[in-house]
Order: sequence, then structure tokens, then C-alpha cells
Amino acid sequence: MEIAKVIVDVPAKSTDRTFDYLIPAEMRRWIEVGSRVGVPFGHRTVQGFVTSLHERQEPGRFKLKPIQELLDLVPPLPPDLVELAGWMRERYACGEIMALQAMIPTALKGKAERYISVSDTESQAAQDGLLLADTGMEDDSEREIVLFVQSRTQVPLGQLSRRFPEQAEMIKSLLRRGVLQESQYIKDKLQKKTLKAVDLAVSVEEAEAALAAFPAKAQRQREVLAWLLELSPMLPVAMKEVLSGLQVSAATVKSLEDKGLVTIDDVEVFRDPYRGRDFKPTAPLPLTHEQQHVYERVVGQLDERTHGVFLLHGVTGSGKTEIYLQTIQRCIEQDRQAIVLVPEISLTPQMVERFKGRFGDQVAVMHSRLSAGERYDEWRKIREGRVKVAIGARSGVFAPFKSIGLIIIDEEHETSYKQEETPKYHARDVAVKRADQHGAVVILGSATPSLESYHAARSQSNDEFAPLLLEMHHRALGNKLPEVHIVDMRNELRGNNRSMFSRDLHQGIAARLEKGEQIVLLLNRRGYSTFVMCRSCGYVSTCPNCDISLTYHQRSNNMRCHYCGYSEGVPETCPECGSEHIRYFGTGTQRVEEELAKLFPGIRVIRMDVDTTTEKGSHEKLLKQFRDKKADVLLGTQMVAKGLDFPDVTLVGVITADSALNLPDFRAAEKTFQLLTQVAGRAGRHQLPGEVFVQSYTPDHYSVIHASRHDYLSFVREELKHRRVLHYPPYCRLILVTFTHEQLPLLVRLAENYTANLEGKARQRGWFGSLDKFTGDVMDVLGPVASPMPKIKNRYRFQCMIKWRGNIDVIGLAREVADDMADAVQNQKLLISLDVDPQMLM
Ligand code: ADP
Ligand code: ZN
Ligand code: ZN
Repeated sequence: MEIAKVIVDVPAKSTDRTFDYLIPAEMRRWIEVGSRVGVPFGHRTVQGFVTSLHERQEPGRFKLKPIQELLDLVPPLPPDLVELAGWMRERYACGEIMALQAMIPTALKGKAERYISVSDTESQAAQDGLLLADTGMEDDSEREIVLFVQSRTQVPLGQLSRRFPEQAEMIKSLLRRGVLQESQYIKDKLQKKTLKAVDLAVSVEEAEAALAAFPAKAQRQREVLAWLLELSPMLPVAMKEVLSGLQVSAATVKSLEDKGLVTIDDVEVFRDPYRGRDFKPTAPLPLTHEQQHVYERVVGQLDERTHGVFLLHGVTGSGKTEIYLQTIQRCIEQDRQAIVLVPEISLTPQMVERFKGRFGDQVAVMHSRLSAGERYDEWRKIREGRVKVAIGARSGVFAPFKSIGLIIIDEEHETSYKQEETPKYHARDVAVKRADQHGAVVILGSATPSLESYHAARSQSNDEFAPLLLEMHHRALGNKLPEVHIVDMRNELRGNNRSMFSRDLHQGIAARLEKGEQIVLLLNRRGYSTFVMCRSCGYVSTCPNCDISLTYHQRSNNMRCHYCGYSEGVPETCPECGSEHIRYFGTGTQRVEEELAKLFPGIRVIRMDVDTTTEKGSHEKLLKQFRDKKADVLLGTQMVAKGLDFPDVTLVGVITADSALNLPDFRAAEKTFQLLTQVAGRAGRHQLPGEVFVQSYTPDHYSVIHASRHDYLSFVREELKHRRVLHYPPYCRLILVTFTHEQLPLLVRLAENYTANLEGKARQRGWFGSLDKFTGDVMDVLGPVASPMPKIKNRYRFQCMIKWRGNIDVIGLAREVADDMADAVQNQKLLISLDVDPQMLM
């Protein structure tokens, strides 16, 4: 193959296609589909991905430029992911390069110096007493390559391929098997984890001679040297191995270094974020009746090795995780791999423990709290096939496994599965597509499935996915769902209770404090902010760049913009009218904390919100403190609602159930229902019965009522009725088109151009019309209007909403019309962004 088609890393409309490059002879054996390369582009060198390989150039074509550089010896992306990126391009109307970049770990993105070394596992194997020759070395040339690399600790990538030009396949195989590893120095953030390692500084013969001549009194040093000699084929060895293995002090090794016999150097090691943590091994539990039924359905499909999607609707505590574990077990037995996606916020050590407890080292974990380097290491374990299960948040769906059998999406309704930046993909849809590529099974699990998934299962009418519905109505441990009381806060006000705690909740807290039981308090913060308002004239402090109210932060005693980070001091008097009656409003967690302290002197509260969990590991630390009963109350935002499982929590209070109900978002009721159901599921999961108080100003709202009765079906029926009438998903699909520009009049004109062009083209194709009036295939455009956040970072924002249904390529059309405006984008700095199936409407 002499020609490579390459997608270059230049995100623009005109470059969103492949470019042909000549593969230089010396790279022919190395370059594959998915290879990352450096190519000349205009006057620069840019990065790109090879998406296909071709024979010779057609005669008569102008001369192609050659690829300049190969960036990794083993392609970072397997062919199935390259294909998936092409699919994402169409599905989400994004540039293909954006999709490709989303699939590789950050650590690989920068331009970096790269080198090859013998992998830690290999060195580890050596330390465990295995010789290189025993770990699957195929023949002498393999051994020669490994020894060459080992003798130099690390070899620049280009040097190795030049030294062994004929052995491309062999070197790639060593990399794929994890005997060799590719590493890199990234100039920015990535910090390599290093380890002190000891090596002989002299040849074996010299060391033996030195040993023979060693003075008897330096017995300890002798031992170390003798041991190193014994290990000589596998050196270097970790300093701490020497110390613990021989019970010697660092000073002993140091004196050998001083004598010039050994070296002590920093070498890079794999960072295993869970190393040193003990995971109690667990055995599969005998399944309950309901679980058994679900298990058999899923395993039946797995055994067929064909693609299938299941929607597992199981109440909180019904034992969905045990289903995940046992189906993964089967998948591993079939010699296939499994991906488990959980919302970032639920990816707690508790969660990981359940999987590590069952599958131990076969599990790789990827989440955003890991450093770029740690994530890169976990990713490499997956690519090299050293693990069988990958657990991760949204982007875990791209785990580079070779043969996927099962993809599980826990809490499938969570909006965090949708990426809000380009590429604006939804992990659920990508998972279904990827599973289809692999003939794999997907399990979408939730106590409150999204209306999209539930409707697709019920109607079997969605052509992208029509999951089979499996249900579990009972808790695995047989305990009942907790009793939920709705407290009408309007009555509290009438009863002259101005506190944010109703009398019932107040009593409930007091009773728990007396008995030494624990309490979870949830503040639904969506739609709330602590803003500063003048009570005399109504002035509110807003961000000068973004036009949204500034949020008060007690700790730093200032006001901050959550969008751009702008901050200013708290005004003492109103800048507008000069009044002194200016104060902060809203019900932030800090205020709840203060009020708790006032009402229950001595109460111990752990507050968990964005402010207290910014530091790495703080989330886990707080939860551990609560688990260890260092506090009576866990108080927080949405974070406390998910996946937590504390035996002594018997009371859950929701401070304001309905704060998000009035947001301009058609999913407001669904999100409220989900949140209330989740949080109610936190109480009484073990022996002690649980009680839930939901405080609400709209206690008659169907989402509040049905959540309090744990009645998903009734909620869905009612909600679907509204959606059908108002033409919202799942009865149609949406594309949100956002335009931003620094100048308002120009922005408005361009946005209007877009909608006019779109409408014109849709009319030509006979698609245009109101969803109300027409049945069948139809599309409509609403807007343009100012976005709910009309200005962010000094750019004005306008948007239009496309609604459509049926079998028409509206995504393609929306993109085409945006592409037609490339001039405005280029010359007038307009930004257009398409969000297909948007989750966030504000
Ligand atoms: P879900 O994920 O559906 O909310 P979990 O998987 O967390 O439910 O299960 C709830 C509790 O029930 C856990 O403590 C779990 O260990 C237990 N459990 C699940 N399945 C079984 C079973 N078959 N036998 C006994 N206990 C089980
Ligand atoms: Zn004022
Ligand atoms: Zn701002």
C-alpha cells in the first residue's frame, strides 16, 4: 500500500474530509488504519489519522506529499473505532477529526517525544522470577529486540524502527502483547510517575570480581550485590523491592552506589490508581427469581454472539449490579471483553470495589479524577488486552478492546452521558452502534429509564434502537421501598414557619440525632443560585461578560460568574439606588448548613457540593467520613443522590423538590422525578427502615406525587401525554443550532439567514411544515431567538430549534445549510454549533 487517506487535525469545514499522502517506503510496514501521523499541510506539519490505505496513485494526478512522521508504532485506534468516527460525523454533524480526537486519551494528544521501553509488567514479571524468555518470547529476534531496548532503558521510536527495519510486525506484536511499551514526554501537564530503581553499574564479570573481593564486615552490602547479580538478567529492580526483600536500609544500597557498583535511577512506572487498595473478593450471589429471569435473557443473547439491546428497568436496590457482574462473568468466559459505563459522579470507590472485588486485576478504571497519565496507563492496559473489563464515564465507550461482548450503561437516563462539547455525542447511542459492530449485547440499566429508551422499548418504533424491556419490581434483599411523605411548604408559611425546614423534617432530624442514626439532606440546586439582590430596588449583580447573575461564595466572600470565572467583591450598598438593604438570596448549601447549626447546636454536618469537592479525592474523603459516622448529616446537591449506600441512613430530606420544575426545559418534570426517585432510594437500604420527607411548593405536581409513590409507570404515562401534545421527544427529534458573535445586530442577521435558508431548502424537498398539522415525515424550525444564556464571555448567543420526525435526513440538511455559511464563519468570526438530540436546553 502506497497511499494513505488521512483526516487532519485542522477543525474546519473545508478540511473535514480525507487527504491523500504518499507512504514513504520505510514506513510501509508500519502504517495501518488508525495510525497517527504527522503530515505536511499548507506550510505546517499537522497531526492526522490514517482512515484507509490504497494501492498506487492514479496516473496523471499531481504529485502527492509524503507522510513525514509516524507518531506511534501501534495505531492508537483500532479499525472499528475509525469506522465509528465516520458514523459519528454523520450522526452528530461534527467534524470527523473531533470524533477521532475524542477517542484517544488526552496524554496522546499533544505533540510529544515518544520512546519505547520494556514494559513494567515485563519488568514486574522479571522481578517475580520469570525470565524474559519465559514470558512468551517467540524467537531469538524477539529476544534481541527486547534486549536492545532493555539495554538502553528507552529508545526513541524512530531509532527502533531504523535499527530493525524488517521486524515491524514483530515489534508491533511485542507492543500489543505489552512486552514493550510506548511512552512519552508531554511538555504540559502530564507528570510521569517514577520509581527509584537499582541497577548494576558495571558488567556482571566486574561485579562478580568485586563481590569476591568484598570486605567481610560489609555483610549487608555483599548481600545486596549478590542478589543483584542473581537478578542480573532482569535489572533494574525497584529500590523498595531491594529494601523489603533483603531487609536492608537505603544507606546500604547508597554505599554501593558510592563505590560505583550500582546505579539508583528514577524510572517511569505504570500508575495504578487502585494499587495498594484491598478489594475483598466476592463470589457470585445466588440470584433472586427476578434476577434469574433477566440473567437468562441476557446470557441467551450473549451465547448467540449477536447484537441485542436490553433495557433493564429495576427499582433501586433490585440488584442490577449483581446482574451486571454475572453477565460480565459470562462474557469473559467467552473470551470477550466488557465495558461498563457509569455517570462520572457515581464512579466512586464503592462502585469500583464491587467490580474489582469480583474481577480483581482484570478491571481497568477510567475517570476524570485520574491524572492524564493515570488514564493513559489504564487505556494501555485495555489496548494491550491485559484487562477484560473497563469501567468508565461517558468516554469509556471508546475503550479500545478488540472483541467486545457486552456494554453496560448504568443509570442510562443520566444526562451526563451526553457530551456538551463537540463532538456532542450521546454515549448510549454510540454504545449501541459500537455493540452492533462487535455483535455485542447492550444493557441499559435504570430505576427511572429515560423516556426515549422506555418509549423505544415499548413501541419498538425507533429505527436506531429498539431495546427489549426487562423489569425488576422488588428489592433483592426483600426490604420495602421507603415511605415518602410530601410536605406542603405553603402550609409552613401559613403556619408562620419561615425556616427552610418544615416542622416534620425538623422533628425527623431531631429524632435521628437522638438515636444516633444518620441523615441525608438534598438541595436540588438546579435552577437555584445564591445571588445578591437589593431589597429596595430589586437590583441583581450580573456578570458584565455573560449577562447572568453572579453567584455568592461565602468562603472567598465574593461574587463569581459560573460561566467565565469573572469575580468581584460583594457590594455594601446597592450600586443602583444606594440602599443598604442589599443581601444574598437563594438557598445554597452553605445557608442550609448555617441554619442546621442554628437549629441543632452541635450537629455534625458534611457538606458536599462543587465548592467542597474540587480537590482530587475530596469526594471520596467526605463519603468515607460519613460512612465512618464522623457526621450526622450528609448535606449536598445532586451528588448525594446517586449510588450511595449507607446502612445507618434512615432519614432523607429533600429541601426543595420543585426548584427545577419551572425551568424552561421540556425534561424538567422527568428530571425532577428521576432525582426524587433516586434520593428516596437512598434510605432504608439495609435493616433499618427508611423515611423520606420531600418538601415542595407544588405538592400536587404529578412528578412529585408519582415519585413519592415509587410509581414510574404512572409518571411515564402522564409525561408521555404531555410530550405527544407538545411535540417533544420521544415523539419527534430536535436539533439545537446555536450562533454566537460579538456583535448583536450581525448575529441576528446571520441567524435569520440560517433559518431562512434552512426553511427554503426544506420546502424544496417537501419536508417543511408544522408537526401539529402534518402526520408522517415533517420538519419545522422555531426561532431564531436569544438563547436562555444570551451572552457568554462577551459573545452574544442566538439559537433556533429544529423539530422533526420520520425518515428524512434533517441532520444532513442542517449541516449543509451551516456549511453554506462557511464564509461568514471564516470572515466574520461567526460560530455555529449543532447539537443533535440536545439534553441541555439552556
Ligand atoms: P441496584 O443496583 O439495582 O440499585 P444493588 O445491585 O445495589 O441494586 O443491590 C442492592 C443490594 O442487594 C446490595 O446490597 C446487593 O449486595 C444485594 N443483592 C443483590 N442481589 C442479591 C442477591 N441475589 N442475593 C442477595 N443479595 C443481593
Ligand atoms: Zn437598590
Ligand atoms: Zn461571566
